[in-house]
Amino acid sequence: MSNFSSFSRRRFLVTASMSATGAIFLKGCVGNPPTTVTDTSTSTSASPSPSAVALTAETTPETPTAKLGFIPIFEAAPLIIAQEKGFFAKYGMTGVEVSKQANWGSARDNVEIGSAGGGIDGGQWQMPMPYQISEGLITKNNTKIPMYVLAMLNTQGNGIAIAKSQEGKNIGLDMSKARDYIKGLKQEGKPFRAAYTFPKANQDLWIRYWLAAGGIDPDADVDLLTVPAAQTVANMKTGTMEGFSTGDPWPARIVGEGIGFMAALTSQIWPYHPEEYLAMRADWVDKNPKATKALLKGIMEAQQWCDVEANRSEMATILSGAKYFNVPANIVTPMLKGEYPMGDKQPEIKDFQKAALYWNSPRGNLSFPYKSLDLWFLTESVRWGFLPASTLDNNAKALIDKVNRSDLWKEAAQELGVASADIPASDSRGLEKFFDGKEFNPENPKAYLESLTIKRA
Ligand code: CA
Repeated sequence: MSNFSSFSRRRFLVTASMSATGAIFLKGCVGNPPTTVTDTSTSTSASPSPSAVALTAETTPETPTAKLGFIPIFEAAPLIIAQEKGFFAKYGMTGVEVSKQANWGSARDNVEIGSAGGGIDGGQWQMPMPYQISEGLITKNNTKIPMYVLAMLNTQGNGIAIAKSQEGKNIGLDMSKARDYIKGLKQEGKPFRAAYTFPKANQDLWIRYWLAAGGIDPDADVDLLTVPAAQTVANMKTGTMEGFSTGDPWPARIVGEGIGFMAALTSQIWPYHPEEYLAMRADWVDKNPKATKALLKGIMEAQQWCDVEANRSEMATILSGAKYFNVPANIVTPMLKGEYPMGDKQPEIKDFQKAALYWNSPRGNLSFPYKSLDLWFLTESVRWGFLPASTLDNNAKALIDKVNRSDLWKEAAQELGVASADIPASDSRGLEKFFDGKEFNPENPKAYLESLTIKRA
């Protein structure tokens, strides 16, 4: 553990200062400037659900309030739907605030101070942010703020967008076809520039995986940048950036408005991959275990609701509202139905199974926080030199057991009455397979690293 901290602390000191200015509000993305948005923009549960469950001594929450941060992208849907459909209130959490965060750096800063300091108790996170915050790797003064990972919020719903100037260059899922072109740009002193809004987490990891699978070294052959989300489209239009690792609903606008095209969806890179997570401050959870399970029950019910295809039109209406994404519903609707215009003469994808999904999949339950998937994020962090190789000693078990609270998820699921078939028996989802044929066996993460050609580890 000390290795984990000391090695990465120096590295994260650099990125923490970048991210404070580098990650900004996603609503401003794709030519849709925000109006007046601040971290204090919140939504408090308006009305308790008419079907509130009868609470017992076992299930009455210690507090009915919690403040949960979100970023206005599809990953936030379970939080927003639980709030708007009354699923939090149904389990006694009548005073939940769902609070829009200006960017990932703000979310981190706000969880560091907690709701008592005007911040948040937890909410939506990219991985492995809850680990980075727990270990003090991206916090102010490297303060360790222990957090618990409680549930996976979603799979899929992310992708790699490319500027229109790069059409016709064979930039797609298989980047080996564009490898010579990309490497040539670097040799000409005009490197391909690809951006994300927060370093060393999902967006960064997806773009790195995709490039490296095609034989392109993300550290040597391209320039990777942290770019404020509000600037991404302007940068793509003006030619100061060629690629962007992005989340729904933005691809529809990037393609629809002729700004660029989609090279790959994350559902193509790794079907049913882990995306973002619900995580909260450990001190809040330790103090409020019943309230935590009530929140989890609300999230799970929202996830089940989100995956009923017939609910997706209503879901689009809710998500697109002013309090949340603040975009026209018709921007949100197609992708919720798995309709992805890809651009650059690629066929449109129309497949509900390629959409953001929240509860169930052919890989089983999506909400359960598999420890094996946390291990992949830590392994991929080691791959790129973000964490020391010693992190993976004993498969990072001590660290993952400290942060990942799949036990609470299971208790909440049982109280909710989730079918036993939907409650995973194991903390491992087993073998993971990627589009390029690589495999991640959570029993042997070092073998996965050894199988990869391009890596820093
Ligand atoms: Ca994401």
